[in-house]
Amino acid sequence: MNGTAAARDSFPDVRSALDPLVRFSARVGRDPLLVQASSGNTSIKLDGVLWIKASGRWMADADRDEMFVPVSLSEAREQLDRQMDLVVDSALSAAQPTRSAAQPMSASIETFMHAVVPHRVVVHVHSVNTIAWAVRQNAESELAERLSGLRWHWIPYVPSGRPLAGEMEKVASRRPDTDVFVLGNHGLVICGEDCNAVEELLCEVERRLAIVPRGAPMPRRGLLEQLACISPWRLPEIEALHALGTDATSRRILRGGVLYPCQAIFLGQPAPLMPCSVPVSDVRDGVGGQYGHRPFLIVEGSGVMLSQKITRAELAVLSGLVEVVQRIGPSTSVRYLTPSDVAGVLSGDGVRYRASAENNQSASAISRECFLPGSWSGEELH
Ligand SMILES: [Zn+2]
Repeated sequence: MNGTAAARDSFPDVRSALDPLVRFSARVGRDPLLVQASSGNTSIKLDGVLWIKASGRWMADADRDEMFVPVSLSEAREQLDRQMDLVVDSALSAAQPTRSAAQPMSASIETFMHAVVPHRVVVHVHSVNTIAWAVRQNAESELAERLSGLRWHWIPYVPSGRPLAGEMEKVASRRPDTDVFVLGNHGLVICGEDCNAVEELLCEVERRLAIVPRGAPMPRRGLLEQLACISPWRLPEIEALHALGTDATSRRILRGGVLYPCQAIFLGQPAPLMPCSVPVSDVRDGVGGQYGHRPFLIVEGSGVMLSQKITRAELAVLSGLVEVVQRIGPSTSVRYLTPSDVAGVLSGDGVRYRASAENNQSASAISRECFLPGSWSGEELH
């Protein structure tokens, strides 16, 4: 029986085989230090079929919404070899256990990356601790010290999709037992034979890479409230966001450029920094106005204001950004995405990825579950 027929004819078996992945994905997806908005993805290989999280779905909702799509492993590998874009077998798509035709799902942009590693279960996360290391000029040597003894590999930044999968395939063919991949200016991939093994290894890597975030001065709430009265901007409910405005190191880091793709895709660039020298009375039609289309505004030395139109996806990514920059020290030499890297992520795939995330806003409250021994010091997302 080929993979298509097997997938179609074994829904109950598929459902029970996917269940551990579904629960694991929901736990990971509800940890804002690992996953923000629709970022991150998980997969499992079953009888020649790769079941992978659909593009734009929020892993936080994995235990309440269908979000895994079947992709023929052999076809994915063939398409990668032929440098083709991923084409999902329509017969396999029809084999999704309960998805209705009215709600089509497409496989994650990272499907090739999941297909090229030999392990059965793969998780990819935008861990803020990992990213805080993976944006450093000396990331590889810092990581070598902390991940010593693990079967890990460093992959300098390459765009998502085929380029990233190609780099991972090279590593996997040389050292097929590699089960930790740290992606420069991007995130983390953990692989294993089952969900428990992957979850344990993810916890171990997070424990080793944990950084206590820097404290930040208090926001100038009075000034921000004045701004809110005379402008469309509002104060955030999440107090931790103000660090981007009150902490000089964070402002310096943001002024330097874009740290990772989701920052550019969801929050725009350059960072919307409004100098503290601008009089409040000039804000309404002045400097603050030039950032009117942006989801947030950094008021230097004072705090952060949000657009009335900020989406949940943008807010989740902004909260992740704060957690990353508060974990990068004042003397750290940062490797930013180049202008051509940024242009690449803002082209077709990045735009589609963002639109897909916005269309699938998480219905679940994002909360800190007892998943990892936390170094979280910020407030919860609501
Ligand atoms: Zn990613």
